Amino acid sequence: MISVAVAGAAGRMGREVLRAVRDAADMRLVAAVDRAEIGADAGALAGGQPCGLPVVADLGDALRQSGAQVLVDFTVPASALGNLRIAAECGVRPVVGTTGLTEADLAQAAAWLRSAGIGGIVAPNFAIGAVLMMRFAAQAARYLPDAEVIELHHERKLDSPSGTALATARAIAESRAEAPVPAPDGTVEKIPGARGAVAGDVHIHSVRLPGLVAHQEVLFGGPGQTLSIRHDSIDRRSFMPGVLLAIRKAPELSELVVGLDRLL
Ligand code: NAP
Repeated sequence: MISVAVAGAAGRMGREVLRAVRDAADMRLVAAVDRAEIGADAGALAGGQPCGLPVVADLGDALRQSGAQVLVDFTVPASALGNLRIAAECGVRPVVGTTGLTEADLAQAAAWLRSAGIGGIVAPNFAIGAVLMMRFAAQAARYLPDAEVIELHHERKLDSPSGTALATARAIAESRAEAPVPAPDGTVEKIPGARGAVAGDVHIHSVRLPGLVAHQEVLFGGPGQTLSIRHDSIDRRSFMPGVLLAIRKAPELSELVVGLDRLL
């Protein structure tokens, strides 16, 4: 049995993780931590019977008292790095889905885990289909170097562009054999941002609308042809097989792993 603590337990993703851990035969939920819903029963938050485990506010106390082996973090970008530090100090292996961590944040987290002698995982997207979409996009970029990313998410997402879009842009930029066609001289952006943000040399367009969950399309263009590679998470359950896989692999990791594809 793997003992699991969940930070952000009262959030949209956190509640889904509570359900997934509750239903996994080889896992035990030992702590639920959030800034909201303090005292609420974790079982009820997961949409089932009360399980006698109340949501608490202090992550350090929760990790020390619960004997958790793995911490799953789906909080907010401003909290995730601090939570990683606390997990490392407590010797608890982090599985982080919170997006918005920078390269410097990841380097810092890797150093904390190294000093603690444990491993963990940070993944901007736990949906297996999204990992395949990123992999296929990297393959396509070798032959069709002109590519742009459109990512679409629900209106309450805090960070943009999404972590998945940034990881996709990085993979495209690394794998294309030729440079993309440069914009013609004299190109004018009549409204700044009309061509989206640029990560490396890949344009990313972020859409935020109610009704969406998490979606991404990578568009490739070549003379006389286009190619679209699209993934849609239409329900947060799409992320759970990847989260459970990461929880199961975390105890074996000896360093910080970034990206679910490294575990597949
Ligand atoms: P959400 O509904 O806003 O939930 C986040 C929860 O975390 C909130 O209840 C928040 O409380 C709480 N929180 C903030 N700081 C905390 C702390 N220090 N300790 C404990 N709890 C804390 O957000 P969400 O939609 O679940 O998304 C959470 C994160 O997961 C986002 O970064 C999102 O981009 C990411 N995400 C990742 C994947 C993936 O596959 N990797 C998939 C979907 C979403 P307050 O409301 O008081 O701030």
